[in-house]
Parts: sequence; structure tokens; C-alpha cells
Amino acid sequence: MTEEQHQRELIRKRKWRKANPDKVKAYRKKMYSKHREKRIALTLRIRARNRDKYLAYMREHERNKRIEVRKLILDKLGRKCVQCGFSDERALQVDHIKGNGREELRRLGHRKFAKKVLEDEQGEEYQILCANCNTIKKVVNREVYRKYESERTSGEGK
Ligand SMILES: [Zn+2]
Repeated sequence: MTEEQHQRELIRKRKWRKANPDKVKAYRKKMYSKHREKRIALTLRIRARNRDKYLAYMREHERNKRIEVRKLILDKLGRKCVQCGFSDERALQVDHIKGNGREELRRLGHRKFAKKVLEDEQGEEYQILCANCNTIKKVVNREVYRKYESERTSGEGK
């Protein structure tokens, strides 16, 4: 076959494919099921090869998302500790005013928790505390709870 014939043949095939999209689709489907396992193996190989890249991308994406959400939360709740006024953002934490924040965080996960904080219309459920004030609050609360310690631990059977 000369080069010219070859080119003509390619053009003819291209035209045929354009005129018969259903047949092309059916053929591809048939070939896919015929070589299904090979195709799946190939896809998995490609995915594995790009896995590190993919994971790095996802990590970066999650990180940016967290930074963005944290900014929104601080915009909403303020950028200083409501207790002592400390304002270094690196040590500011979201506090559940009525306590039990840790349980809620565990139940919802970080993302849903953040969503709930941002959707809290009245602004009565959450506040910003610095790490020190937050820790002190927890210690104080635990002293309050100590009276009920046996009741509490018996409730945590899981
Ligand atoms: Zn504080």
C-alpha cells in the first residue's frame, strides 16, 4: 500500500466512523467486554503509577480546604479568645459553649462539624477560645463531672 492509498483509507474509515456512531459504540463495547480483564488491569496499573501524585494532590486539596474553612470560622466567631483576648490565630480553637464538643466532633467528623459551626445562626453554640483557656475549661468541667465518673464510664461501653 502506497502512502497515498494509506491516507485515503484512513480518511474513508474516519468518514465511516462519523456516519455510523452506533456501530462504533457497539464495537467498542464488544471489544471492552472481550478484553475486560486486561482493560481493568491496565486502568489499575495507570492508577497505581499515578497514586503518589494523586494522593499528594488530594492532601494539598484537603489542606487548602481546611485553611479556607478555618478562615471562614474565624471570620464568623472572631479572631481572639473570648475569655482572655489572646489573638495569635495559631492557638485559637473552636469551643462548644455547652461542652461536649469532643463528642460532637467525633460524631460528625471535622468537615461536618465545621459546616455546623458555620451554619449556627444564633451564634450561641460556639465560641473561640485560646488553647490555654480551652484546656482550663476542660479541666474545670472534668472536675465537675468527676462526681458522675462511674456513671459516665459505665455509659461508655463501646
Ligand atoms: Zn484565652
